[in-house]
Amino acid sequence: MPARFEYEFDTPVYKGSTSFETGLFIGGDFVDGSDLGTIECHPTGKYLATGKVFTSVSEGTAKDVDIAVQVAQKAYETSWGLNVPGLERANILWKLAQLMEANAQELAALESLDNGKTFGWASGTDYYAGWADKVTGQTLETDERMLAYTRHEPIGVVGQIIPFMMFVWKIAPALATGNTVVLKPSEFTPLSALRMCALINEAGVPPGVVNVVPGYGDTVGAAISAHPKIEKVAFTGSTLVGRKIMEAAAKSNLKKITLELGGKSPNVIFDDADLDQAVKWATHGLFWNHGQACCAGSRIFVQAGIYDAFLAKFTEKAREIRIGDPFSANVDQGPQISQIQYDRIMGYIESGRRDGAKVHLGGGRVGGEGFFVEPTIFVDAKPEMKIVQEEIFGPVGVVVKFENEEDVIRQANDTFYGLAAAVFSKDISRAITVAHKLKAGTVWVNCYNTFHPAVPFGGFKQSGIGRELGQYALDNYTNVKAVQVNIGTRL
Ligand code: NAD
Repeated sequence: MPARFEYEFDTPVYKGSTSFETGLFIGGDFVDGSDLGTIECHPTGKYLATGKVFTSVSEGTAKDVDIAVQVAQKAYETSWGLNVPGLERANILWKLAQLMEANAQELAALESLDNGKTFGWASGTDYYAGWADKVTGQTLETDERMLAYTRHEPIGVVGQIIPFMMFVWKIAPALATGNTVVLKPSEFTPLSALRMCALINEAGVPPGVVNVVPGYGDTVGAAISAHPKIEKVAFTGSTLVGRKIMEAAAKSNLKKITLELGGKSPNVIFDDADLDQAVKWATHGLFWNHGQACCAGSRIFVQAGIYDAFLAKFTEKAREIRIGDPFSANVDQGPQISQIQYDRIMGYIESGRRDGAKVHLGGGRVGGEGFFVEPTIFVDAKPEMKIVQEEIFGPVGVVVKFENEEDVIRQANDTFYGLAAAVFSKDISRAITVAHKLKAGTVWVNCYNTFHPAVPFGGFKQSGIGRELGQYALDNYTNVKAVQVNIGTRL
């Protein structure tokens, strides 16, 4: 029988308790993995990521994925999909959205404990509840003797390999459109996903509609990507693993894929920008979530006229970032998620130094214990350097001087990524012209990292395939069927 996780939070930002089962969630029940394996959790909050084992959750296998797919298939055919009118699905999603809201503090606390993220929470489930009864096709005027129309039908069983925040981004549109789900959370942050499963039951989502199989990438993740009965897989993670998923999808049943992958996003700041605003947003853009953000603005291009002033203010702002336990009220930056990630970041900092870039700020570890990295700014970097080309996924960025619009557009687009970008200028014509020339799925103008459930998010180039959020996300989860009816007069 799976263990229960019970924990009392007594922190400056949250006081409360949590208690839930930590098994695989299949058919509405928490069960052991078929091999009775477990995944150790190394919470980053309370123990400041010192590698201590805090609790464990059941570990799934390829066999468990297969069981979950069969259960999800049955649920699709009997208690969800086209059997349940959109309005009924909407009501269940509304209930889930309300439960998430009511338990938001607890979910946020679990994320901080598991992930090291500073305390905070945002949902979007209510947005998709509103869509569940509004997914419609078209009637098409082809010929007076014919009736032609389209239906947007659910795909069936969909696989999702995603971190927790994306749980909300991806589950809600999948359910709103009538699909059933087999999901693998990150092996680093399974707790909040399992807590959500209890809420899914409480909301009245029929058993088997959502199934969660915690496990590792090369077992559970690979089994989801290659499963012949899963007809679509949604993935959020690195470009490296995204390629493997695409390959597995191609080699198995040509399942549809959406990939939200990495980035190396440019933030372009012109001479005429509001300097304080640019500094504020650039700091948020680069250092939010300790730089562990796919859309981190990690290449900051500053026009020559304000380069020195920007660098001075940006450095001052970065120095103000308070680093420590994410449960503390006065902390902006928690620890990196794991030893591996910490080592990777330090490796990049070392490579920047070795290649001849200059560490302008930071570059080291903070404190003796825990995976805390100093906010780090490089200057004098060359375009071909690894720190300019590769995603670091940590609080490390480069500041680069540019002369003119043409020059900066060329440099900003000189990357195989294309997830996000930003432009700062008070000249709105210039800002919009540059926004249109930047090759990225999102361009922020005079802001950074603003999200809304109605606004699509996804990448150009190797940053991904497809869009999450907004009405666009619904397209990922439906098949369009064209029906052509001979009304009776066409021979
Ligand atoms: P990762 O690619 O290492 O792992 C992501 C998931 O893939 C994990 O659940 C892992 O178990 C699984 N996995 C590993 N090997 C697999 C395989 N062979 N088959 C199937 N699944 C496998 O990424 P991460 O370290 O969790 O996250 C960091 C990356 O995610 C960064 O590159 C970041 O930019 C990206 N990311 C992108 C977005 C976006 O919206 N574009 C959002 C968040 C993170």
